[in-house]
Amino acid sequence: MMTFQAFMATFPDEAACSQFLKDRRWPDGKVKCPRCGNEKVYTLKQAFKWQCQSATCGKNGYRFSVLVGTIFENTNVPLVTWFKVLYTMLQSKKGVSSRQLRRTFFGERSSLHTAWYVGHRLRAGMRDDDFKQLMGIVEVDETFIGGKDKNRHWDKKSHVWRNRLRQGGRHRSHQSEG
Ligand SMILES: [Zn+2]
Repeated sequence: MMTFQAFMATFPDEAACSQFLKDRRWPDGKVKCPRCGNEKVYTLKQAFKWQCQSATCGKNGYRFSVLVGTIFENTNVPLVTWFKVLYTMLQSKKGVSSRQLRRTFFGERSSLHTAWYVGHRLRAGMRDDDFKQLMGIVEVDETFIGGKDKNRHWDKKSHVWRNRLRQGGRHRSHQSEG
């Protein structure tokens, strides 16, 4: 797993995190409408937002951001914070409590719910193949770290994260999170 310094250098701000997600979602660079699959989407002025006006999505159009359909959607939590929390969770062998997350990332004045929510969503994400693929979290046995990377041709950043499932996480089969 990359060092914290390297991590901070890779994901210094919202734009870097958004760009990372965009590259992962649409590796060929062609942004597709998540609703209808249309490739002729319009770029909006706001960064990392597009509009689809296909027959399916209607002439008023469907607006979407790089976050749509991900666990990061519909929160006020900045992507950089999500990424840092994820990094911390992947690093931690014992797991990280909501109180720890709040202290480290959100401040004592924040509601515990925010920290709990972010931790909860990320733990669910680590059991979800789509999320792992989106984030480039590779399941690697300790023995193979630094070894072969079957995704290398697809994304050389796939060692950005190392998957560290929480105890027993591998055997759980939650399909959806409410
Ligand atoms: Zn569409």
